[in-house]
Amino acid sequence: MPSSPSTPLPLIACFHCDLLQSMPALAENTRAVCPRCGSVLYADKGATIQRTLALYIASLALFILANAFPFLTLSMQGLSQSGHLISSPIALWQRGMPEVAAVVAFFVIIAPAVRILSALSVLAPLAVGVRPPWLAPAMHLMHAMKEWAMPEVFVLGVLVSYVKLAGLATAHFDVSFYAFVAMTVTLTWAQAAFEPHVVWDRLMPMPPRPAPGPGQRGRLISCHACGLVGEADAGHGRCRRCGAALHRRKPDSLNRAAALVAAAAVFYIPANALPVMNIVFLGSGEADTILSGVITLIEYGDWPLALLIFFASVTVPLAKLVCLVFLIISVKRHSRYRPRQRTQLFRFVEGVGRWSMIDVFVVGLLVSLVQFGTLSTIEPKGGAIFFCAVVVVTIFAAMAFDPRLIWDAAGENHD
Ligand SMILES: [Zn+2]
Ligand SMILES: [Zn+2]
Repeated sequence: MPSSPSTPLPLIACFHCDLLQSMPALAENTRAVCPRCGSVLYADKGATIQRTLALYIASLALFILANAFPFLTLSMQGLSQSGHLISSPIALWQRGMPEVAAVVAFFVIIAPAVRILSALSVLAPLAVGVRPPWLAPAMHLMHAMKEWAMPEVFVLGVLVSYVKLAGLATAHFDVSFYAFVAMTVTLTWAQAAFEPHVVWDRLMPMPPRPAPGPGQRGRLISCHACGLVGEADAGHGRCRRCGAALHRRKPDSLNRAAALVAAAAVFYIPANALPVMNIVFLGSGEADTILSGVITLIEYGDWPLALLIFFASVTVPLAKLVCLVFLIISVKRHSRYRPRQRTQLFRFVEGVGRWSMIDVFVVGLLVSLVQFGTLSTIEPKGGAIFFCAVVVVTIFAAMAFDPRLIWDAAGENHD
């Protein structure tokens, strides 16, 4: 929409590089991209509230179905064992792994549930024209769950388990599995169709403000939760739209990210060296590390699956650690080297880490299903705890790193 320079527009600061820019209204189904780092700033997604509400209602119905019935049934020589969605955290808990059980339950059941319920609590009132008093905290909760809800990774874990079990027993999917897959689709779709700026504008529209003159940029601060740009000193440290704590940059970003990377690097060694599970078949046990699991898959000729597990479990965590070390060092050294590409690298690191959870989900599923007494059992082993820790700690490390520091250090953020 054309506007003369005299009519001020709302201002928005890019979340990834902090470039301040004006925010013209968009045509339907278009998006505004930061010209400096390439991040999406905001988008017009049509009737975002009605569409995402419908998708979250469908997700809730499918979530209830997915939890109510058996998920996967395994048969072996006349014996059969059914697992519900909750069975795998329960089995991990019973076998002395409460930490892994809690993480699996949180990523697969609790975080998706909280995301669906917080979204519904905001979108349902807004759709009928009521602004709920809990809009801001519910939006914060919904945003926080985005990183932790991993239904799509779990579905892949189920498929990997299915292939691994094929040699051992007959497995078949039950109704809850199909409901869970459908919920994964509706949730992913809802996430893609959602435009948070539309909801935040219902709380308080972004006020138009003239672009700051020379030397005035430093007085403005952008809320990292809702995107409102305001005077740094006027908010008493809190965003006046959503109440979130205001920080120019994530506090102590580099030190926290470096400490978490170091911890994850330490955990990475036992995660790969120790067995993650013990497969007992007719009395003889065989301990499986991540790598030996990959080799077994290759021996059975499952090359695509072997590559998938190798990539997700061995390569991704290592690549993530190497990339974060590179980003931290480059900022510390005030590097001016390709800030746009380094920001893209950070977005990749942020997005890819969750896929490393596949093997932890596989261990949980196999442990809950393969319990056939003297015939065959699968027990979780210590490597799984370290592996789970690597995934969780690297996600926290990526969260701690503030990509805007790349641009600060390159000298690009002086007014
Ligand atoms: Zn940017
Ligand atoms: Zn805010």
